[in-house]
Amino acid sequence: MTARTKPAPAPKPYILGIHAYVPGKATASDGRALVKLSANENPLGTSAAALAALEAARGEAAGYPDPDANALRAALAEHHALDAERIVCGTGSDELLNLAAQGFAGAGDEVLFSRHSFAVYDIAARRCGASVVEVPDTDFTADVDAMLAAVTERTRVVFLANPNNPTGTWLAPAEVERLHAGLPSDVLLVVDEAYAEYCAPEVQRVGFDLAAAHDNVLVTRTFSKIHGLAAERVGWATGAPALIDVLNRIRGPFNVTVSGQKAALAALGDTDFVEHSRSHNSATRARFAEAMAALGNHGISTVPSEANFVLVRFEGEVKAEAALDALAEAGYAVRHLPGQGLGDALRITIGTSEDMAKVTATLRTLCGEAA
Ligand code: PMP
Repeated sequence: MTARTKPAPAPKPYILGIHAYVPGKATASDGRALVKLSANENPLGTSAAALAALEAARGEAAGYPDPDANALRAALAEHHALDAERIVCGTGSDELLNLAAQGFAGAGDEVLFSRHSFAVYDIAARRCGASVVEVPDTDFTADVDAMLAAVTERTRVVFLANPNNPTGTWLAPAEVERLHAGLPSDVLLVVDEAYAEYCAPEVQRVGFDLAAAHDNVLVTRTFSKIHGLAAERVGWATGAPALIDVLNRIRGPFNVTVSGQKAALAALGDTDFVEHSRSHNSATRARFAEAMAALGNHGISTVPSEANFVLVRFEGEVKAEAALDALAEAGYAVRHLPGQGLGDALRITIGTSEDMAKVTATLRTLCGEAA
């Protein structure tokens, strides 16, 4: 046998600059299963109607799904008063975020987003060879002036998560409009509204209205959060026909499964479940934030959140690492994101009332307070 001398396939250098996405954990370091408050899933589960649709779809596994998700797109259009021709569905909104970058940015271009925002933007930009421009935020909130000041001739795509992950902060409609108004018309603004349904209904349309009125706005939404269908991987986007056309050219032809399309359709119709999930989240989040405020003398605080999670900061004697360990010991996985510059904080998904009472008691005990 002669030694192998031929070179192995060489990856693109910019691909090696990507740090693979680290998902929220579900097990402790010793392998114990934990309650997952680390991935912003719906603690109330999935609507009964969507579960029934999943069950009904079991018999259809041999056939390809509708490549254009026509029934789901029609239902989304009807539900949100949009045009079905301006909607594309994706394998989670993750796919659509990646396609938005790929469709409009490449080597030599810049993709811009706020510090402490969704980790997928960095991957989406780098995997098409574009440069990342990360703009400092203010009080963990996207800073519109700073973002606009960072735009250059090379900027092709701007990502805004609203509400933002992992901080939970939110830009009011007027600020989103101001960001859009300040961007050149040839820059694509992607408004990532994965958590929009947790906001008050009267402020949920800003992205849709911008996307309907302008050629350079794409709004992404997901069934993974309030609809409790993360396992099915169903997301969607709306924007001008020319934008949707680009995404349709490069998406997977059968990118949303049969069960995913059917479950999403049923979930969309279950407005009671959505309403219940929203009110559970806001009431439980408010109680949790109040409980954390009561630990303010221990250096604990929360970042105001409009989403289904809260960023809790540990700036006193109790460190985030110690809280992470104590919560794991109590049976809970939460998210520590030192790699995103949040070493002194934990992102905690709002779970059931019982979960949040236990999380609160654990943190109180750690601070030396009565549970
Ligand atoms: N955007 C944001 C801001 C998110 O937090 C997430 C999920 N973590 C997504 C998009 C992607 O969600 P999915 O692919 O499940 O639709």
